[in-house]
Amino acid sequence: MLPKITNLTEEELQGWLAENNIKPFRAKQLYQWIYHHKVTDWEQMTNLAKSFRQKLAQSFSLERLTIVNHVTAPDGTIKFLQKLDDGRHIETVVLRHGDHDTVCISTQVGCAMNCQFCLTATMGLIRHLTPSEIVEQVLNASTFLPEGRKVRNIVYMGMGEPFHNYDNTMKSLTILLNENGMNYSWRRITVSTSGLVPEIRKFGQEKVAKANLAISLNGVTQEARKKLMPISKRYSLEELIDSCKDFPVEARKRITFEYILLEGVTDSIESAKKLVSLLHGVKSKVNLIPFNEHPDLAFKTPSDAKIKQFQQYLLDHGILATMRVSRGRGITAACGQLAVKETKKNESKKTS
Ligand code: SAH
Repeated sequence: MLPKITNLTEEELQGWLAENNIKPFRAKQLYQWIYHHKVTDWEQMTNLAKSFRQKLAQSFSLERLTIVNHVTAPDGTIKFLQKLDDGRHIETVVLRHGDHDTVCISTQVGCAMNCQFCLTATMGLIRHLTPSEIVEQVLNASTFLPEGRKVRNIVYMGMGEPFHNYDNTMKSLTILLNENGMNYSWRRITVSTSGLVPEIRKFGQEKVAKANLAISLNGVTQEARKKLMPISKRYSLEELIDSCKDFPVEARKRITFEYILLEGVTDSIESAKKLVSLLHGVKSKVNLIPFNEHPDLAFKTPSDAKIKQFQQYLLDHGILATMRVSRGRGITAACGQLAVKETKKNESKKTS
């Protein structure tokens, strides 16, 4: 199988061109064709010589991830399933908000973090996604939008832990931000992590670190967080908060702390109080996520009154606290509901 051209940054593409005695500016043209015009056939690259197109066709694959199927929720949320070259599957979600569409992309098949409230965790980690597989989800997302419209925001909040697949995640950011390609602004991209402290620190030093950082907090004491998110055994809540305090947050920007509301577990006013003191001194905002229930998960969603009360406590104590409106619930496309049954079936077929 030929290597995917979408695995290469523009710089890497220039390197390949140089090796083949082709002028480096061709990389820019290729980027425009692939990511701006979104062509899927070399023949469509009309400003490139036929011989060059042939050379490209012999060297790289331009095929996109195959969209196997998609479902649309009544609120307009679209979840689509894509088949990878090795037969595995991943899910991507498009959230429609007028012209503010957001794509929620995956970075791994499954996930190793084992967060107790998350369905993807039940798959375990199957493998990391390549940069190409991450980037192509964004290209594919636009096929669900009206002609010519581009997804406005990108959130790395689908299946998997982006910082566990650090290098490929960084490379995908480089490709998405490239001005000759999709030309995303870092303001429109958010990378969400369960709290891998060394990678948070490393990310702070990267050029692409201007992208927004979100931390899935979900617990306000080390004890509470450890029970919900095993990663906290490796990197304590204290270390996590320290890494956020040290994070070079741009002026007027804040780190988002996602906080899941689980009935009787994380939704007490006592927890809200602890959350306020925990975030003292951190440039932060809180995004509350009422738990999305699933028969395979034991937790419950708190009542609306309880949720409002929690949010109000934060607001009254000077915390910018928004509530994530749950979208795509009916089609299991909401937060923490992404898990691909097909992959599991294939797995058991292979091993049995
Ligand atoms: N691994 C990364 C990216 C996944 S984001 C991370 O942990 O940040 C997934 C987000 O959905 C997290 O903020 C998580 O707290 C939230 N989530 C997971 N399961 C959920 C569920 N069942 N209901 C609501 N939110 C959930």
